[in-house]
Amino acid sequence: MPLLSIENLKMYFYTLRGWVRAVDDVSLSLEKGDSLGIAGESGCGKTSAILTLLRLLPRNGKVFGGKINFAGKDLLKLSDREFSKEIRWKKISTVFQGAMNSLHPTIKVGDQIVESITIHESVSKEEAVKRAGKLLDLVGIGASRFDRYPHELSGGMKQRTMIAMSLACNPELVVLDEPTTALDVIIAAQVLKVIKELQQKLNLSTLLISHDLSMIAETCNKIAIMYAGKVVEQGDIVSVFKETLHPYTQKLIAAFPSVLGRKTELSSIHGFPPDLLTPPPGCRFHPRCDYAMEICRKEEPPVISAGKDHYVACWLVGGRKE
Ligand code: SF4
Repeated sequence: MPLLSIENLKMYFYTLRGWVRAVDDVSLSLEKGDSLGIAGESGCGKTSAILTLLRLLPRNGKVFGGKINFAGKDLLKLSDREFSKEIRWKKISTVFQGAMNSLHPTIKVGDQIVESITIHESVSKEEAVKRAGKLLDLVGIGASRFDRYPHELSGGMKQRTMIAMSLACNPELVVLDEPTTALDVIIAAQVLKVIKELQQKLNLSTLLISHDLSMIAETCNKIAIMYAGKVVEQGDIVSVFKETLHPYTQKLIAAFPSVLGRKTELSSIHGFPPDLLTPPPGCRFHPRCDYAMEICRKEEPPVISAGKDHYVACWLVGGRKE
């Protein structure tokens, strides 16, 4: 049984103009020890899907259907109190986008980790201090910096402190939302190294949200590509990168420069993602797709298996062609 299985999840945001279909029939799954990267352009629904999983939706966000099974429990059936007592931080924790700015500026970093332990677990202060020191060691900051204030740490160290905090209660799954945004490339590489080491050392399952495909290729063994609130292609990372099937994934990959390969002009995806208040009928990518056919404008392509652990939703692949 997968550790996390999201099935046909639908979550819409209410606005004065109507319902924005931010997450529309999304299915994903993750085994213990897996690292799943979710990629796509801004506004494709990746963060909204994760906010739904973490039960951190704003008041105008509403779940319209689907299931979120985690370690055998249907999370959507838990009350807010049960979710916060049993799941949040203890089983699933998160490192938010720009998380390094979430540290309290006037509290020492060690104390902030201690607080996240004592809030969620009934352990003595002494025990929590010991654990916080170990966590700072684990992420390469060192327990000796326990008494530092956030302004005394570099951007990368603050981000690593946030990663240490996310591990405070030994969660089974850590969600990382753009963990290297706002960091320069050298520091971003150090943070990625820490994430990879933790995945191996702790057999940690991670869900990584990013628009940076190279970062996902570097840290994940599975990938899901989202477009306009839907997963259009997902599977094993090697298979999706080597045998890319969906035209949107092909365009995303082509938009990234290759450091080693021949120098070519970078391609871009013409047009804009659709307004999710009134998404286009059929395949939502059809107004931007070079291969769009009549059927693409009318009928939504089903998700089909395109090989071992490789799924795609496109009429060109094993579907009806015209
Ligand atoms: Fe393009 Fe049609 Fe495939 Fe959509 S279903 S990606 S429009 S070919």
